[in-house]
Amino acid sequence: MSRVLAAVAWPYANGPRHIGHVSGFGVPSDVFSRYMRMAGHDVLMVSGTDEHGTPIQVQADAEGVTPRELVDRYNRVIVEDLHGLGLSYDLFTRTTTGNHYDVVQELFSGLYDNGYIIAKTTLGAISPSTGRTLPDRYIEGTCPICGYDSARGDQCDNCGNQLDPDQLINPRSKINGETPEFVETEHFFLDLPAFADQLNAWLDTREGWRPNVLKFSRNLIDDLQPRAITRDLEWGVPIPLEAWKDRADKRIYVWFDAVIGYLSASIEWARRSGDPQAWRQWWQDPEAQGYYFMGKDNIVFHSVIWPSILLGYSGPKPQALGGLNLPTEVVSSEYLTMEGKKFSSSRRVVIYVRDFLERYDADALRYFIAVAGPESNDTDFTWSEFRRRNNDELVAGWGNLVNRSISMAAKNFGEIPAAGELTAEDEALLAAVRAGFDSVGQLIGKHRQKAAITEAMRVVGEVNKYFSDQAPWKLKEDKARMGTVLHVALQAVQDCNTLLTPFLPHAAQRIHELLGGTGVHAPMPEIREVEDLDWQATQATSAETQSAGGRTYPVLTGDYTVGTKWEHVAIAAGTKLEAPTPVFKKLDESIVEEELARLQS
Ligand SMILES: [Zn+2]
Repeated sequence: MSRVLAAVAWPYANGPRHIGHVSGFGVPSDVFSRYMRMAGHDVLMVSGTDEHGTPIQVQADAEGVTPRELVDRYNRVIVEDLHGLGLSYDLFTRTTTGNHYDVVQELFSGLYDNGYIIAKTTLGAISPSTGRTLPDRYIEGTCPICGYDSARGDQCDNCGNQLDPDQLINPRSKINGETPEFVETEHFFLDLPAFADQLNAWLDTREGWRPNVLKFSRNLIDDLQPRAITRDLEWGVPIPLEAWKDRADKRIYVWFDAVIGYLSASIEWARRSGDPQAWRQWWQDPEAQGYYFMGKDNIVFHSVIWPSILLGYSGPKPQALGGLNLPTEVVSSEYLTMEGKKFSSSRRVVIYVRDFLERYDADALRYFIAVAGPESNDTDFTWSEFRRRNNDELVAGWGNLVNRSISMAAKNFGEIPAAGELTAEDEALLAAVRAGFDSVGQLIGKHRQKAAITEAMRVVGEVNKYFSDQAPWKLKEDKARMGTVLHVALQAVQDCNTLLTPFLPHAAQRIHELLGGTGVHAPMPEIREVEDLDWQATQATSAETQSAGGRTYPVLTGDYTVGTKWEHVAIAAGTKLEAPTPVFKKLDESIVEEELARLQS
């Protein structure tokens, strides 16, 4: 047994999340965490909503609400969506908590104290007509990289590159259209080149990473520059240095605060658990492992920048929290497209998690993401393929086996029948199913979930073949042999259900109950409304960004110490069985056209 940190990418709280988002970070991290817990590891799975930065401020301005009101709204929406998918976070929190502010400021101060934060004079924009600072979000112009004509002063939304306002071609003020004037201003930079040798040495020791992640990270290290970690912005964590902490116009840059969320969420979890030091077991024990899950656009933050922050805080001078572990592995997925197009909320090429869950079961989506998601290649979601996999594989392959084996036993015996002497075929099937615990488990442990669920479904196929070959419905004259065949089939169904539990936890709980089981088989997260532990810490943010809300917020959490283990468990003859209702829903052909029409409307 070991301690395993599952650090899951933080969804940005500027709107509801679509199924492309959850296919990259959400479902894969949950499958991994559920499996590791079942296999006996002590898992801490943390994340939350990422709530600072210019896009939040811009959107709040456009809607006439405060940033705080905007993120309160979408934090709740995202928590509910992730809950609906059954994602088993130990803590899913947010970045606008007092605890997060404290931890971010502690890491900033520690890096500063260790000499890794450098002040640099850069060019900042001011309005010539008023003489006041123009925040990044109020400057737009043409992107110097891709030529997009509405790039913002901090980022181009077309190509995704981070920018500085003075890099824009034809910069203009969004307030009155005037051309800003650039004057010298001071900002803080993280001295990334100082970590290049340590980062390369660390990457040399990594095993099992996806090759594209390693290659991409090494290329980044070859070309490291100091990176700005403060910004001309009001919405964010204040800079914890004298002469800066009361500046309303300067904040810590959102990317710097968001990656620290993995640590702050672990600390918040520990404080809420009643043992405030418990987080150290996942962050300081050299035996503990840390797996980071994200989409490929975030690799740089997890394989280069976050390790640099951890290295720089951990030494040379010891800091208050102590030395911190580097990631064991950065598990990055590729992109999911939809009907051949990139997901885009503005172009309506999108399906939100919430809308999906209104019409379909969570496990139908979880199945599709596991078997056909963007694990190591960009992949496409189409409604016809979703329907085909649901009907041909989930319903016809697995659901049908569950249904016919349980209903035949219920009808003929009213209980799990006892087994007589086993034939060679019976023994062979039971052995093949039990071998699945090794083969499926090893694949999940290596982040090869597509191969893992394919292997589990291959085992299901063997049970289906056994059932057809043995044809228990033809054994009405030989009740003893019929009972033996059904006993063997139900044992195989129970073991297959365990193999599929990390992928299909909702269905697994139902099948457990159909087999006469009681109690929790696959634990589920719950939404809990909690008090902010250090609300005062956020009060330094200027009055206009505050609202009355925010002192309490919803978190996802749960007790995952219960539930089935990753092992064969013998079924008990004599357990009462009732006629089952189908676990999975077959989807009508008409849904494909209905969904495509929704996309076009
Ligand atoms: Zn661009």
